Amino acid sequence: MNDRTIFEQIINKEIPANIIYEDSLCIIIDDISPQAPVHYLAIPKKLIKGISDLNDTEDKDILGHIMISIRNQMVKMNIKDYRLVINNGSEAGQTVFHLHIHILANRTLGWPPG
Ligand code: 5GP
Repeated sequence: MNDRTIFEQIINKEIPANIIYEDSLCIIIDDISPQAPVHYLAIPKKLIKGISDLNDTEDKDILGHIMISIRNQMVKMNIKDYRLVINNGSEAGQTVFHLHIHILANRTLGWPPG
């Protein structure tokens, strides 16, 4: 049985995804079920299940790198306003247990989120 997450399979190019950006540490893809005109997922290539599972030392650089990569991609697309969301744990809405940052843009976003 294949117990790897869908994102690990996307990172390994075993299943397709629309790749917006990729480097050695992370990948940014289109969400398959977009909740805004722009809805990307920024995913570390290292399997980290969620924010709760971050390693105190080695994951700092990875998370910093992903944030800079997101910022660069938004600059490249001339998108100035956007929301970043991380769902941590099933009660918070996490359904894929491989850390990912949602990037939502190009519509007015309400607050508080549901
Ligand atoms: P979560 O609910 O864990 O915060 O977010 C998981 C996200 O992954 C959801 O927004 C969902 O639409 C997206 N997703 C689930 N399966 C796939 C897939 O096979 N491909 C892509 N590109 N996104 C997926």
